[in-house]
Amino acid sequence: MATNFKSKTIGIALKDRGSILPAGHTANGAYWFDNASGSLISSNYYMQALPDWVVRFNNKRLPDTYMAKNWNTLYPVDTYTQSTADEKQYENNFPGGGTTTFPHLTEKITKDKYEIFRATPYGNTYTVEAAKAAIEGENLGGNGVTDFLAVSFSSTDYVGHAYGPNSVEVEDVYLRLDKDLAALLTYLDSKVGKNQYLLFLTADHAVAHASGFAKEARLITAAAMPGMQKAVNDAIKKEFGDGKYILAFTNYQVHLNNELVAANKIDRAALKQTIIRTIMKQPEIFSVVDLENVQTASLPETVRKGLVNGYNQKLSGELQYLYKPQYGGYEKGASHGYWNPYDSHIPLLWFGWNIKSGKSNREVYMTDIS
Ligand SMILES: [Zn+2]
Repeated sequence: MATNFKSKTIGIALKDRGSILPAGHTANGAYWFDNASGSLISSNYYMQALPDWVVRFNNKRLPDTYMAKNWNTLYPVDTYTQSTADEKQYENNFPGGGTTTFPHLTEKITKDKYEIFRATPYGNTYTVEAAKAAIEGENLGGNGVTDFLAVSFSSTDYVGHAYGPNSVEVEDVYLRLDKDLAALLTYLDSKVGKNQYLLFLTADHAVAHASGFAKEARLITAAAMPGMQKAVNDAIKKEFGDGKYILAFTNYQVHLNNELVAANKIDRAALKQTIIRTIMKQPEIFSVVDLENVQTASLPETVRKGLVNGYNQKLSGELQYLYKPQYGGYEKGASHGYWNPYDSHIPLLWFGWNIKSGKSNREVYMTDIS
């Protein structure tokens, strides 16, 4: 808007939200990966037909080329010093009959091929190729005004969820992402010019350890304690009778079925108390917060502030449960969405135009970038 819409803004990612949200409402185009076709797609919010450069890019069928290569470690596996042994029971198996151990035979995958492609390092390599095609196709940096290209690397997240941050798979994905980023910077240096572009790199979250890893390291006493949802539903049934009074447990929140609660004249406050009491009995939980009364929660100010910042009265659930440090509720793989520094502390790197070398430990927030 500052250039009266003369600047171009383009979003690129495998994930729809990774492309659409960083590019914003006024983007010229946001492109993401479609599992059904194995191609980049967009929305008619931006345009009626894909630009020629996207059609040409899709015609290369890069995902098929990558999947035919299989996924083995980039370097000999005994040089991977930042991870555990490859075979761990708390990792998920590679899809399509694979195991937790390299090599992962992507060439054999026929069912859900492009969905599985996302959870390989090749998804990041593909994203760099798509970013280069966008720079070329839209002549980014050559329009006389500052253009904005938002690129999200989604494969790190998919692989991290499946195997956990201490896996050989994650170490391999980051070794390869480093090479992918080097390729993008080399391209930008030659296309736009050294120091003629400003780049920042950050993340939307970090991650917790796989709970099996945390147990092995004696950080916790039990890897995963399933059964919370059933316990809550049983308690509700006992006190309030039949009725699906909970719509969903999602992102560590409980969403109430407020229409049914009202229609059946259920005491909503009593219902919430029953749910809170039941969840609090779970040994891995340290707090359940009524998000409608978050100011009364006895929590450290930084945690409460995070809950307030994340709360949307129309979209959020009514209750939020918080795990004790290092607990996370998953038997296999890992996840994020925890207030703890190992998850909420993210990197922020600046590079290129007018950036002097240096580092800072000052606390800054993602929103400070703008
Ligand atoms: Zn994730």
